[in-house]
Amino acid sequence: MLVAEDSPVNQILLTDFLELRGHEVIVADDGAEAVRLALQQRPDVILMDVQMPQMDGLEATRRIRATADGAHVPIIAVTALAMDGDRDRCLAAGCDDHVSKPIDLPALADLAERLAGLPRSGGLSDPK
Ligand code: MN
Repeated sequence: MLVAEDSPVNQILLTDFLELRGHEVIVADDGAEAVRLALQQRPDVILMDVQMPQMDGLEATRRIRATADGAHVPIIAVTALAMDGDRDRCLAAGCDDHVSKPIDLPALADLAERLAGLPRSGGLSDPK
């Protein structure tokens, strides 16, 4: 799984949680790195923060979608606030689904596994 997220705290939260569920996780700090890693590493699913420096998550998604290798990888957009139109903007950019912060880790992991067609290999369902 590729986690594209500029916040170090969220990077650690997401990575730890997904690794405890048995997934291999790579991290991109910004949109440009997300595009590069998506095409180099071919992750089975991408969790894409929308607000990132240099290149935001929607532009990164559009660039991934414009490539042959990135046309079909599942991408889940993660937005800072639930605002009207967020979902439509994310889907229009090519994302498969959209969730809002604060991140519900078990729900996001469930969604990522489902979109990637992965079995849930870890036993952890809640971070508490
Ligand atoms: Mn961000």
